[in-house]
Amino acid sequence: MNASGKHGTRVLVVEDETQMRRLLTVSLTKHGFQVTTASTGDEALQEVSSGAIELVLLDLGLPDMDGVQVCRDIREWSAVPIIVVTVREDESDKVTALDAGADDYVNKPFGIDELLARIRANLRRASPEPADPVLHFGALTVDLQRHSVSKNGEYIHLTRTEYDLLRVLATHAGRVLTHRQLLREARGPEYEGDTPLLRVHMVALRRKLGISPGLPGHIATEAGVGYRLLA
Ligand code: CA
Repeated sequence: MNASGKHGTRVLVVEDETQMRRLLTVSLTKHGFQVTTASTGDEALQEVSSGAIELVLLDLGLPDMDGVQVCRDIREWSAVPIIVVTVREDESDKVTALDAGADDYVNKPFGIDELLARIRANLRRASPEPADPVLHFGALTVDLQRHSVSKNGEYIHLTRTEYDLLRVLATHAGRVLTHRQLLREARGPEYEGDTPLLRVHMVALRRKLGISPGLPGHIATEAGVGYRLLA
């Protein structure tokens, strides 16, 4: 076991560029992961269907099929965590992939530390530890049982909607949530399209929490995509 996660966790790297595939394989292997590779969507589906894969790192630009379609196909029968690898400019692609069932994304080019952090956050979600209703993010504490939020021990008053948004972000800490996902989980499917209202609530929520950018508990904006609570 090392600092990167459970030793020997099986990661499938789906990437058609040989150099990138090699780089990811070497880096992840060095950090204790057991890496399998695929260079097409078809190969990826075959590998996932073998059932041994614990996390998928999926390049969206594949030669034989769209990575978004790979997500959809996997989600028909598997809940394996999927992190898509995208080019920074393609915000609509990220949203489409997340809405198609991907759990998270990293932008190309990315650093290995960032990638490892994403992998860890998504593996944690896939195998939750014994439920503790009190979540801690630096100075911020979210008590899911008592529906209360405090910072450095001081109670913070939130509206019902603000609390529900924070609850969803906190229970997915470290992972990005699209505007639609966040609204659906916090408010219900009928609110999915209410992005302008979401922005208003997020401004208020951030102000009340008062956590500086970069610190645990801060709600980071993922431009054009959604939000992520820093773990
Ligand atoms: Ca590619």
